[in-house]
Amino acid sequence: NKQVILSNYVTGFPTESDFNIVESTITLELPEGSNDVLIKNLYLSCDPYMRSLMSEGPARKGSLSYTPGSPIGGYGVAKVIESGHPNYKKGDIVWGFTKWEEYSLVSAAQIVTKIENSDVPLSYYTGILGMPGMTAYAGFFELGSPKKGETVFVSAASGAVGQLVGQFAKLTGCYVVGSAGTKEKVDLLKNKFGYDEAFNYKEEPDLDATLKRYFPEGIDIYFENVGGKTLDAVLSNLKVHARIPICGMISQYNLTEQEGVKNLSKLIYNRVRLQGFIVSDYYHLYPKYLEFLLPKIKEGKVVYVEDIAEGLENGPTALVGIFSGRNVGKQVVVVARE
Ligand code: NDP
Repeated sequence: NKQVILSNYVTGFPTESDFNIVESTITLELPEGSNDVLIKNLYLSCDPYMRSLMSEGPARKGSLSYTPGSPIGGYGVAKVIESGHPNYKKGDIVWGFTKWEEYSLVSAAQIVTKIENSDVPLSYYTGILGMPGMTAYAGFFELGSPKKGETVFVSAASGAVGQLVGQFAKLTGCYVVGSAGTKEKVDLLKNKFGYDEAFNYKEEPDLDATLKRYFPEGIDIYFENVGGKTLDAVLSNLKVHARIPICGMISQYNLTEQEGVKNLSKLIYNRVRLQGFIVSDYYHLYPKYLEFLLPKIKEGKVVYVEDIAEGLENGPTALVGIFSGRNVGKQVVVVARE
């Protein structure tokens, strides 16, 4: 059973040397009478929150945190090999929380759902039809409360979450601008995801001036993915009653000390609503999300770009790449295709 092991706790930016690929000699079996599920992992998801699980100390996030010498874990799509649980049977395809290894023994509680719609790529359940998709949906519609004609700004706009927020904004009739870190991503934003405008934040020396250029009247909704300097510039460019769903702040995850934000007082007179959220609080909306999205995928009204890494052994490179923007679209690792 090939596995990706954390070799040591991580401080600062993670690198490939923080992980090892090992071949475990332990044969996984479903114990007699167990109600766990033995699965074969097919597609694994690389997600920014996984950085917090690599740290030692207060940043650790409870039971999901990684331990040096043990396989790392995350969301994935898998096939049921053997099941002791009545809800799952051999051959079922499931989406849930698994380990970075070829085969895993998981509890039924780790499985989010059994996959019923297999006429879309299965890897989509790590992205558009999985956790990042639900993040874009809940963050934009539930927290952003968008209305037709409003102005929307999205950071990390070409990523797993951002590419969907832009498309949802267009479906709602909003004007939407995205920022990303390369020319290739900026082209995707404008030509593939339908963003009205897009810019490379690394080439904009004065983000405040850039935002004033794209939003002369101000921003109604800022979908926050990066934090830091971008958030500070946005705070000076908001309309009255603007909303900021705080989805993530990836620019801060690898810093030992968080950057300060100077313009918070701008929230007051503009009566801005700024709210953090965690996607798992919204999983009850998943059936509604599928109803909204599946027809749009099939009709080509919503598209999704994935960055596919082949093989578990290429997992660490793919995972650390999301913290330097190497991924173009949703970063997926293929362990096996069936
Ligand atoms: P992405 O697919 O967008 O990958 C991360 C991207 O972030 C990189 O490609 C890079 O793109 C950008 N990035 C990396 N470092 C920086 C930096 N220092 N400054 C600005 N941009 C940077 O990831 P996701 O779409 O999966 O996640 C986007 C955000 O959503 C993250 O902050 C994540 O933590 C958050 N999230 C929150 C959830 C919740 O429940 N609240 C659930 C899921 C995600 P570029 O080339 O453009 O710099």
